[in-house]
Amino acid sequence: MDQATLVLIKPDGLKKSLTGNILTRLSETKLDIVGARIVKVSRELAQKHYVMLKDKPFFEDLLKYLMGEYHKKKVMALVYYGEDAIQKVRNICGATNPEEADPVSIRGAYGRITTKGVYENAIHASANPEEAEREIKLWFAPDEIISELYPAKVAKKNVEARVWA
Ligand code: UDP
Ligand code: MG
Repeated sequence: MDQATLVLIKPDGLKKSLTGNILTRLSETKLDIVGARIVKVSRELAQKHYVMLKDKPFFEDLLKYLMGEYHKKKVMALVYYGEDAIQKVRNICGATNPEEADPVSIRGAYGRITTKGVYENAIHASANPEEAEREIKLWFAPDEIISELYPAKVAKKNVEARVWA
């Protein structure tokens, strides 16, 4: 079944210049990239992204990690699409804990555990279709994705926005 999944190259991945390596590894899946953005992550976005972990003792450090306070203040967000996309990407990522991850997986090769106990594991990937939909809608607007993944509607936005001067 064709699926979409959200991938984030986390700030440690960008700081360590791993973008090319990670994209090359992900290209083994033969999935399509249908969206890509470089994002400066706000506290609000980090909190929403990791809302399921809000009661964990490492939550505050996890927010700082995703916001780039320990590395670089940016994240690369991508949407991959295709057959069995969620599991294919998760397999290449490896286990959450980089010490337990297969050494040839992305997290096994590039991740580490900090002295504060946070797993800096270079990459995020959605774990199931519900999570993928929630996360893709959080990180991307409909027009930032080149395929119609989910129903969208036209709404008038009466907000001030920066335009090119
Ligand atoms: N994390 C951590 N310590 C833990 C569990 C998770 O530092 O004991 C961090 C890690 O960066 C992980 C993220 O929180 O990638 C999200 O955790 P989740 O359980 O959703 O793992 P994932 O889906 O990323 O494999
Ligand atoms: Mg997760």
